[in-house]
Amino acid sequence: MAAVELSGLVKKYGSVTAVAGIDLEIADGEFVVLLGPSGCGKTTTLRCVAGLEDVTAGQIRMGSQVVSSAGYSLPPEQRGIGMVFQSYAIWPHMTVAENVAFGLKLKKLDPKAIATRVRETLEMVGLGELGDRASSQLSGGQQQRVALARAIVLEPSVLLFDEPLSNLDAKLRERMRFELRQLQKRLGITSIYVTHDQQEAMIIADRVILMNQGRIDQVGSAIEIYKRPASQFGAEFIGLANISSGQVVVTGATTRVRLADGKELACLATGFGVGDSVEAVCRPEDVHISTAPLTETNAFAARVAGCYFLGNIADVFVQAGELQLRSQLSPPQMLPEGTEVWVRLPPEAIVLIRR
Ligand code: ATP
Repeated sequence: MAAVELSGLVKKYGSVTAVAGIDLEIADGEFVVLLGPSGCGKTTTLRCVAGLEDVTAGQIRMGSQVVSSAGYSLPPEQRGIGMVFQSYAIWPHMTVAENVAFGLKLKKLDPKAIATRVRETLEMVGLGELGDRASSQLSGGQQQRVALARAIVLEPSVLLFDEPLSNLDAKLRERMRFELRQLQKRLGITSIYVTHDQQEAMIIADRVILMNQGRIDQVGSAIEIYKRPASQFGAEFIGLANISSGQVVVTGATTRVRLADGKELACLATGFGVGDSVEAVCRPEDVHISTAPLTETNAFAARVAGCYFLGNIADVFVQAGELQLRSQLSPPQMLPEGTEVWVRLPPEAIVLIRR
């Protein structure tokens, strides 16, 4: 049985449809990330799961229990969830340990049991030494860990995260992604995490739920959604992509697409028919560049329009007739503007998306 299941979830605010019909099953212990641009409905979805919003239609189940449906909402405190928000909302006048103990005290647990659980939880999040420290004397990363400890000390069956790292500086944020992932793996708590940051999603998630305009655009591992985007939106939102419009002219062992300027691209996509209008997508790292002539499939003469050194890669823009392509070369190879080159798009690296 799924730990959390959304079926036909709809949430409207007056005339605004924030969530437009979401079906999603989250397995026990799974870490899913709701990813998408601002306004796509990810926070609203999370708030519905938390019980902070009533649902307009559809239902949410946790285990065997329906917790939300139109006209019914189990209160948040009865759902067995822990929440970690962007603003940590920790109490500055309390010590770290007092902050973490707060929820257990409300539950009127035995003081000795509380002390043990608080100590264990602080150890878990790497704050074992800081229990007596005033919360006002913590760094941003430490405050975030207190917020996390406060959520997990209550042993929730589901943890909900709403952009929990966005108040941290870039370096710390980067490090905390890995820490959060490791911790969730150790704890094995089913988790739903909201972010608009694709790198964060790719590092943290077992499965990424890519959302657009209140709907799910694609569900998959980081590798799947990057390598096999299901829509032009997905191809553009996750990473960088060369996208060219064309029409399928040949199907069979290879599919051939004619682009607007008459060039033809061979690719391995299946399920298309002659005449279909498509977008051909190729990631920049898959665009090969050579100063020696290339003769294989999908090789074209081109000219370097710009080349930029980015440390680990060179970002190269080339023009092949009307086709503009971006290539990222690793290790970086600097090619002066105007250099005559050959570019090649390997058939297996091209994804077709129906228009
Ligand atoms: P962000 O990353 O900016 O938080 P999001 O993907 O989490 O965006 P939501 O906050 O879920 O998006 O909002 C989805 C849509 O619902 C938006 O159009 C938003 O303006 C609208 N919305 C959200 N909350 C309310 C509300 N309380 N009243 C009216 N409209 C709302």
